Amino acid sequence: MSMNDTPSGERVHIAFFGRRNAGKSSLVNAFTGQELAIVSDVKGTTTDPVYKAMELLPLGPVQIIDTPGIDDEGALGELRVKKTRQVLNRTDLAIVVADASQPLQASDRELLGLIRERSIPCLIAWNKADLLQAVPPARDNELWVSARTGLHIHELKEAAARLAGQQEPKRPLVADLLQPGDLVVLVVPIDKAAPKGRLILPQQQTIRDILDAGACAVVCRDEELPQTLAKLAQPPRMVITDSQVFGKVAKMVPREIPLTSFSILMARYKGDLELTVRGARAVETLRTGDKVLLAEGCTHHRQCGDIGTVKLPNWIRKSTGTEPEFVFCSGRDFPDDLSEYKLVVHCGGCMLGQREMKYRQRTAADQGVPITNYGILIAHLNGILARTIEPFPNLA
Ligand code: SF4
Repeated sequence: MSMNDTPSGERVHIAFFGRRNAGKSSLVNAFTGQELAIVSDVKGTTTDPVYKAMELLPLGPVQIIDTPGIDDEGALGELRVKKTRQVLNRTDLAIVVADASQPLQASDRELLGLIRERSIPCLIAWNKADLLQAVPPARDNELWVSARTGLHIHELKEAAARLAGQQEPKRPLVADLLQPGDLVVLVVPIDKAAPKGRLILPQQQTIRDILDAGACAVVCRDEELPQTLAKLAQPPRMVITDSQVFGKVAKMVPREIPLTSFSILMARYKGDLELTVRGARAVETLRTGDKVLLAEGCTHHRQCGDIGTVKLPNWIRKSTGTEPEFVFCSGRDFPDDLSEYKLVVHCGGCMLGQREMKYRQRTAADQGVPITNYGILIAHLNGILARTIEPFPNLA
């Protein structure tokens, strides 16, 4: 991702599903105008969905996902179908590609059922319409298209942009808590885990949201926080800190100044803050040997340093006096079955879409497994959770 790219978590995720012989990958290529899809002479040779970022006007930045065939068979086929289901959990708009020369097959109907269960907006693209004697007109989110001749591909893109654009608007990260002219102090520790020459995504996004509110951001390291506060003519509207230095920063910031963290803001922005606050309290019930899942939303470009893998486990051990078993997962490999865990601790998930973060939280809640967030748990372990959620109205 270059500095100017929209992060994946902020893109509308449009996924193409369908049986292997429906021409799905060719349609994805026609839709994106580039060779992106799973290409092979042997049908269904990959289990992995293919991702591609593009601009879909007038909607804006989207993430296109080409999935393996839903009708695949055998052991490897089961894995493909499982991955397809995982993709559904991050899909904002589903395009089901069907063969126009045949009625919907059982696997198509099963897929449509999964999509409906998740209330995902959906289009059916009847591909290979060029082979029909008469092409039916579009109706109720169904279009007759041809990847081979380009028939109605433009209309398909327009319909996708229209339907995806009807999603509920995103909640602001922090702007709704600010007034124009407010001043916010951001505390960003620069230690050896900090990436070279840049800020991490949650910090960048918070600064942008503050600017969108017409407010002003002052950024300093934790070492400089006391003199930064002392130099201000009036107290800031709020202090937002990196969770790693929560305890230290809480002592520096006068009690009357609201204090929270980037991670807590992200928990509210992406999912259910109340659920994650409740989840933090479950750390008190941990016993030696209990399994704790530490989940991060990104892999190769992990931006949050060693907080999840090293610091959090140490803080949990120290605070609870127990020796839980820590299990780590990152990127898209969030387990569907969480029943073996006593607690799930998730990062802020800045690289994940809201739909995926909500899905992860719902998966945990449905299985009765408490789920919390790095920043909220750290605030709880430091005894400052109540203070750090005060800025959020309507939170129990
Ligand atoms: S680990 Fe989580 S919060 Fe950190 S950069 Fe990755 S997705 Fe964002």
